[in-house]
Amino acid sequence: MTGAATTDLMARRARLMGPNVPTFYDAPLHLVRGQGVWVWDANGNRYLDCYNNVPHVGHCHPRVVEAICRQAAMLNTHTRYLHEGILDYIERLTATFEGGLDTAILTCTGSEANDIALRMAEAVTGRRGIIATDHTYHGNTTAVAQLSRTNIPATGDGSHVRHVPAPDSYRPLGGQGGMAHAHAFAASVQAAIDDLNSSGHGFAGAIFCPAFLNEGFPTLEPGWFAPVAEVVRRAGGLMIADEVQPGFGRTGTHFWGHQRIGLHPDIVTMGKPMGNGHPVAGLVTTHDIMTAFRRSFRYFNTFGGNPVSCAAAMAVLEVLQDENLQDNARLVGAHARAGLARLAERHECIGDVRGYGLFFGAEIVTDRATKTPAPNYVLRVANEMRRRGILMNKLGINGNTLKIRPPMPFSVENADQMLATLDGILTDFGPARD
Ligand code: PMP
Repeated sequence: MTGAATTDLMARRARLMGPNVPTFYDAPLHLVRGQGVWVWDANGNRYLDCYNNVPHVGHCHPRVVEAICRQAAMLNTHTRYLHEGILDYIERLTATFEGGLDTAILTCTGSEANDIALRMAEAVTGRRGIIATDHTYHGNTTAVAQLSRTNIPATGDGSHVRHVPAPDSYRPLGGQGGMAHAHAFAASVQAAIDDLNSSGHGFAGAIFCPAFLNEGFPTLEPGWFAPVAEVVRRAGGLMIADEVQPGFGRTGTHFWGHQRIGLHPDIVTMGKPMGNGHPVAGLVTTHDIMTAFRRSFRYFNTFGGNPVSCAAAMAVLEVLQDENLQDNARLVGAHARAGLARLAERHECIGDVRGYGLFFGAEIVTDRATKTPAPNYVLRVANEMRRRGILMNKLGINGNTLKIRPPMPFSVENADQMLATLDGILTDFGPARD
């Protein structure tokens, strides 16, 4: 695609979609085709996709495409009519959970799922106060946007929301070593609960990604969540695990992020990878919580749980199992992180390498001693990677962490290509001066 064509598309977007609609990269990409871990732009250039978790089992996986087409050709209605599709799917989905998480609602987006989770916490406790981290993103509805301090500015009245400092294992609250970081986090949650109680809102629950992926995927000790879970339970609040990012086997060792860390949530929300790009999301909870919600709110979602979405989502679960993609995430993720650690031996700017399964990256700093973040440098790296045919991006509390989160069929060979390209760029760019 020529520069002129890109400029035309950008101008049309601005005219038809309004200003300020985000794109990735200083040269926005016009993608026209995808297959497995690869995508192609309008000029026929091929890119290795190290970023997209929505095409979870690979772009345009033929089994998912076939399942969608088959069901779309047969019937597509909604949940006011009886259909086996949603029941078969919920049965198979809930079988991946422990702890009585055996009922579900299907939605179209993760935002809707989190919106329902907040209402569930309200229905069960009769209170509204919610705690989230100060560097999270849980979605874009008016209610859910209030959980974000970053990404989307809060709208409406967020006086019932308290933000606690996002965990940062590279610069941990409470100091380095052992569980001090976990106890410091639990103490800030306790302080937020006390504040909600004294403000009159009361405490309904806490919502966290169990791997804090948007926060920059800090390395957390086994048992890290126990102190905060204890604080939340003692105060009578619900623990909501937002699994939109770590779910469906991405962390490699477990199917769900909360299982990896030994957290027992009351509600689990999910989305992004669930339908491999088809808009399906949802939440899973206990029968008692579902009953409290269903008695408080008469919830219906026109598209949520439609037969085509359920067929897509079922195909994703089948492919994950049949192609052993969780194991692949564990093995290839470990290989890639080891490769990044080797790059850190030669490139001073890599301050910390971390992640879980196929969600990993490196924190880029100007100086290891001061751990000074280099967000502009990392942006230049991401843009140069794109120019050299590899898609990745950045995230984290300081915006200086390379974010690598490829489709699950990502191979050792793919990882090696990504590492070699990154090595070349870091060599060409030299030390991070930001
Ligand atoms: N929760 C988390 C952790 C997310 O990262 C996102 C989207 N990036 C959402 C919820 C919202 O999902 P959706 O865009 O499907 O509404």
